[in-house]
Amino acid sequence: MQSVSDIRRTFLEYFGKNGHEIVPSSPLVPRNDPTLMFTNAGMVQFKNVFTGLEKRAYSRATTSQKCVRAGGKHNDLENVGYTARHHTFFEMLGNFSFGDYFKERAIELAWNLITKEFGLPADRLLVTVFSEDEEAAGYWRKITGFSNSKIIRIPTSDNFWAMGDTGPCGPCSEIFFDHGDHIPGGPPGSPDQDGDRFIEIWNLVFMQFEQLTKDERVNLPRPSIDTGMGLERIAAVLQGKHNNYDIDLFRTLIEAVAHETGVDPDGPQSASHKVIADHLRTTAFLIADGVLPSNEGRGYVLRRIMRRAMRHAHILGAQDPMVFKLVPSLVHEMGDAYPELVRAQPLITETLKLEEGRFKKTLGTGLKLLEDETKALDAGGTLKGDIAFKLYDTFGFPLDLTQDVLRARDITVDTAGFEKAMDEQRAKARAAWAGSGETADQAIWFDVRQKVGATEFLGYDTERAEGQI
Ligand code: ATP
Ligand code: MG
Ligand code: MG
Ligand code: MG
Repeated sequence: MQSVSDIRRTFLEYFGKNGHEIVPSSPLVPRNDPTLMFTNAGMVQFKNVFTGLEKRAYSRATTSQKCVRAGGKHNDLENVGYTARHHTFFEMLGNFSFGDYFKERAIELAWNLITKEFGLPADRLLVTVFSEDEEAAGYWRKITGFSNSKIIRIPTSDNFWAMGDTGPCGPCSEIFFDHGDHIPGGPPGSPDQDGDRFIEIWNLVFMQFEQLTKDERVNLPRPSIDTGMGLERIAAVLQGKHNNYDIDLFRTLIEAVAHETGVDPDGPQSASHKVIADHLRTTAFLIADGVLPSNEGRGYVLRRIMRRAMRHAHILGAQDPMVFKLVPSLVHEMGDAYPELVRAQPLITETLKLEEGRFKKTLGTGLKLLEDETKALDAGGTLKGDIAFKLYDTFGFPLDLTQDVLRARDITVDTAGFEKAMDEQRAKARAAWAGSGETADQAIWFDVRQKVGATEFLGYDTERAEGQI
């Protein structure tokens, strides 16, 4: 069996052999993009190389990039525990051409890797292209021998990538693996494409245009390539598993959860094991990259993820803090590829222990209150906003945690009511502060802080300290 580590190595060595510089993952807190909450794709560290602002000594690169998709524009937090293919932290394998090779070579490199090196059968694969990109469809036909029925044309933004409102953009082409007709879900482009039968494994982006204004687009003089393949998804395929959480790396973490809680990892509560394993990784990698739990910005996303994990530990009956006990298993699995985990192990352990100890005090009582308040509600019901606010304010329940608890029962939260209660409390706090004999300046600073959030210290070389959610 090819382990996750083997697959990562094979990928990087393959592109290395094909003239790509093997570049280390960049940190999860992007240093060159203040608009981004976390690094969420392999191309993030190369943004300025694609636009030409920055020059590198190479024109082809390959990486295994740490990504977090929670709390920002891409948010997969609500998918974890529900789909077979989403994590909040994952590794994106990528190859990049900065004005070097383009479409045909990118398709050929990808196809040879998955069918020759990895040995995937062509009859389980299918691809999508942007509906206006006949050129890509032609290369796929030529390189794979696929008929048009296996080259699906997608007219939506799913297959057109843009860096922003202006800047580089272009069509993309995605490779899907068919896990079999025993799994619900339709092919890409069909109404039930979000099922887990046809799983997207690799996205190839062809950066060929530059958007100058809303209506004006020109050809880039030297088009570029940006690709991303989920390591955990290709590992699942190569290990003959449907669900990402059944690959070797996750299995080790899930067994560790079972060991600590005594709960069967394949029983009715298996979703909790998965959520804990996922959130453990995100927590550990974020802390290793300098994020600490707090009430604002990135730190609050981390705190929300940690508390969700703790709620699932509670569901599995853990009486004492337990998530921190899983850290050695994670470091054992991933410390070789990511030495920062080894270095930060004591900090990760202590932070988890402290946060878990604090939240333990209110978690149980908060859940009891939530139960009492929703006892009379049926599916489709709504929890009052002021109760959600009380849970937030007094019991430390982030809003999304409350929503997550109620989701299984199909109960929603009155979020407008929650916001209203929050605003009222802020107004009270402001009045109390202004009336405490402080100068008028202080009240102004209070407003600024409420509006933009406190900054986090990210090190002296950071261009900008913090972006808002
Ligand atoms: P999906 O449609 O399945 O949510 P995506 O289209 O959002 O995936 P891309 O933005 O194209 O994903 O990212 C490139 C690749 O990264 C995907 O093809 C997939 O293999 C992987 N990937 C994306 N999101 C996740 C995630 N949350 N967990 C694990 N792998 C992911
Ligand atoms: Mg997605
Ligand atoms: Mg997709
Ligand atoms: Mg995609």
